[in-house]
Amino acid sequence: MKKIKPEVYSYLEQRGGVIPERNKRLYTVRLRIPGGEITPDQMLGIGRAARRLGAQSVHLTTRQTIEIPHLPIEDVPRLIKAVDKVGVTLGSEHEEVVNITACPGLDRCRLSNIETGSLLSRLNKAHFGREMPMRVRIAVSACPNGCTSERLSEIGITGLREPIRDEGQCTGCGTCALTCKEKAIVMVNGRLTLDTNLCVQCGMCIDTCPFHIIKGTMPHYMITIGGRRGRHPMLGRELIRVDSEDEAVMVVERVVDWIYRYAYGGSILTDQLESMDFSSFKDRIEEEFSSKDSETAMPGS
Ligand code: SF4
Ligand code: SF4
Ligand code: SF4
Repeated sequence: MKKIKPEVYSYLEQRGGVIPERNKRLYTVRLRIPGGEITPDQMLGIGRAARRLGAQSVHLTTRQTIEIPHLPIEDVPRLIKAVDKVGVTLGSEHEEVVNITACPGLDRCRLSNIETGSLLSRLNKAHFGREMPMRVRIAVSACPNGCTSERLSEIGITGLREPIRDEGQCTGCGTCALTCKEKAIVMVNGRLTLDTNLCVQCGMCIDTCPFHIIKGTMPHYMITIGGRRGRHPMLGRELIRVDSEDEAVMVVERVVDWIYRYAYGGSILTDQLESMDFSSFKDRIEEEFSSKDSETAMPGS
């Protein structure tokens, strides 16, 4: 087996994505698979590289990446080189922006409110691997079903659509009330009425009215900060809802910068929101992005 130089050891150990195992001689290599999407050729390339190095298995992680476990350090550069040939690079694992996850969105899921492919690609290009005071996970779910647990991530984006019911035209057939899992469409004084406090803006009722009288607003991108999984899971706090992918990308840029500047290592983001003065940051973001809404509003709207 080819000897590896000590400086290469230390370089590999410092790289995100090369993770020491319980058995100190072995490493797991985590790849970068944004949104869990790869081509069949990339899948074959990874499989062949792992097989050539004698791997008995590959592991699909909870954050939509692929890991090749139990590699001696000498084999790590060979693996990196082999997967690079099919356009796959090393993932991240240290205090940085780690693999960005997303659900399929409008491309495939009938429940989705937003397109996720282009958003994921823009976020991944701008932020993946950025050095941070702590691990920062960004996740996108195209509806409140939250298949990527985005509200349990440091930065979450949820796609929403708000229903607008014209009660005057409603026939009272009840289809929308039966569809709504939140019981947000209820009978009040003999009329079916939308309770906006209960509505989570999943948008499901919009497409189910047989008479097409429930209209939907433009999709909203709800951005939450400071969610966490782990021992004491907690939902992130809502920062803002914006109405376009461009604005969502800009807000995430502001949030990543804010975390980089004001958060510190050794403690998770959830526990630092107060000391980072989340409320003032929220006010600044609201001021900036509500003025953008008015700048881009159509005349007469
Ligand atoms: S989060 Fe919603 S849109 Fe995304 S896959 Fe799950 S159900 Fe579909
Ligand atoms: S958008 Fe979803 S939660 Fe709101 S009323 Fe329609 S089905 Fe219910
Ligand atoms: S499905 Fe349409 S017509 Fe039927 S109760 Fe709902 S809004 Fe009215």
